[in-house]
Amino acid sequence: MFERYTEKARRAIFFARYEASQFGSQVIDAEHLLLGLLREDKVLYRWIPETNAERLRRRVEQHSPPREQIPTSVDLPLSASSRVILKNAAAEADRLAHKHIGTEHLLLGLLDEENTFAAKLLRDRGADPAQIREHYACREDVSRPLSFQRGSYKDLGFRSLSKETVEIHGARWKVDYVRDVVNLCRSYNWHWHKAQWTPRDIAIERKTGRVSFDLSLANDPANFDLVKGGWKKDHCFVCRWELCQSDNAEHAVGYTNGHDWVCTECYTKFFERPDFFNSAYPEIT
Ligand SMILES: [Zn+2]
Repeated sequence: MFERYTEKARRAIFFARYEASQFGSQVIDAEHLLLGLLREDKVLYRWIPETNAERLRRRVEQHSPPREQIPTSVDLPLSASSRVILKNAAAEADRLAHKHIGTEHLLLGLLDEENTFAAKLLRDRGADPAQIREHYACREDVSRPLSFQRGSYKDLGFRSLSKETVEIHGARWKVDYVRDVVNLCRSYNWHWHKAQWTPRDIAIERKTGRVSFDLSLANDPANFDLVKGGWKKDHCFVCRWELCQSDNAEHAVGYTNGHDWVCTECYTKFFERPDFFNSAYPEIT
């Protein structure tokens, strides 16, 4: 489904999923796509002249107040609107004869789904789809940040992108991705402590099979089943390494903020050494 997506567009979806979990939403909705998109690609603010990151987020929070967070390891589906938005984004790319689907197409896809709060928010703040299309119509490569000259990209206050990779559990990961996710973890949840992973009790909605850690739901046994120790693993927020009950300490012990988990390797490499990215890769800011 995401083969045509640029790396930035993929990361925007990743961040949208994160936003949904932070808002305690059971689905990834249009406003989470919007927040994820703008978190990943701040250049897009140029198309929304009458706002900034803080004000926009406040409006979304007023519209749908955050509920109890859902761990990021829970898989959240896209809402019906979000699925339409992704279809719109592909259609926008086709229309512009672009092979890739980038963050600009996702922004247009959001605007096209006119009945969503996210689209209204964008339009009310000056986003004009016609203007955006016109801009990208003659610039096939504009969504690829590497086409920016490195110097000018930095001068604009945006980080440069690098092809460097870093090793985690023997696999290579893009430095950009790892740094972004680590920064995200740090900015949202600064307190992490070392812990032995243990199974958790969960409530499962009978009709849909959806899982919740809100055990008070089990007070409604007609609709929910309480499953003791039903949550059998988590994944490292950074590298997806499995944390579970195991004799192998690398799997059995990690760091947690109460919701999310990070494996020991990621924690010691990136969290305990806040200068990791700067010292290992001096060209990255
Ligand atoms: Zn990890």
